[in-house]
Amino acid sequence: MSDDTRAIANQQARDQKKEAYLRAIHDRYAEQFRMTADQDAISVARATHAAMDVVLERDRQKDADSSGIRCGKGCSHCCHEPVEIWAYEAALLVEIAREAGITLDRMRLERQGRYSAENWRQQPAQDRACGFLGADGACTVYEFRPNVCRKLLVVTDPALCDTSNGQPDSVGRWFSWEAELMESAALEMFGASVMPKALLAALNVKG
Ligand code: SF4
Repeated sequence: MSDDTRAIANQQARDQKKEAYLRAIHDRYAEQFRMTADQDAISVARATHAAMDVVLERDRQKDADSSGIRCGKGCSHCCHEPVEIWAYEAALLVEIAREAGITLDRMRLERQGRYSAENWRQQPAQDRACGFLGADGACTVYEFRPNVCRKLLVVTDPALCDTSNGQPDSVGRWFSWEAELMESAALEMFGASVMPKALLAALNVKG
């Protein structure tokens, strides 16, 4: 076997090992979520958000690159992008909005709900913002925000997150494999939809 062939074989073995390791993490979360079938939606959403925070904090501690994360309060470009959540998160957000006296604008949600993640940016600029974004650029439900918002952490200049000028995305992210796999398992298990659609569905359940 030549050195080149040996190097390729070693790389393939490493890739397979990594794939199996990541698959095992995903399957572990999928199994955990399957076990929540008898629990209420809001408890599951809260517990999964807490688990996400623990994973992100642990992985940030382990990875020096995370010190370059630039996200901060008031920076909200990503809150104008499509946000995919799962139904239990929508149930939690509707409940929190009710408790906090936040009025969800159904007409705006319905307008937003006509767009998908693929064509979100085609809607009028004034409609693109998340309904929970405050006038000061801060999230009004920060403690209860969906996991997709928790794990979106950017290491490039925040100005690059502004897509309103039609520039292509050139954002650099810091990410945790485990956080990505947890969210992927949750979206697969509980169903994914853009936030306005998920909120409308939750509002209709609530009545
Ligand atoms: S829930 Fe909060 S953090 Fe997430 S998109 Fe909406 S305003 Fe932004």
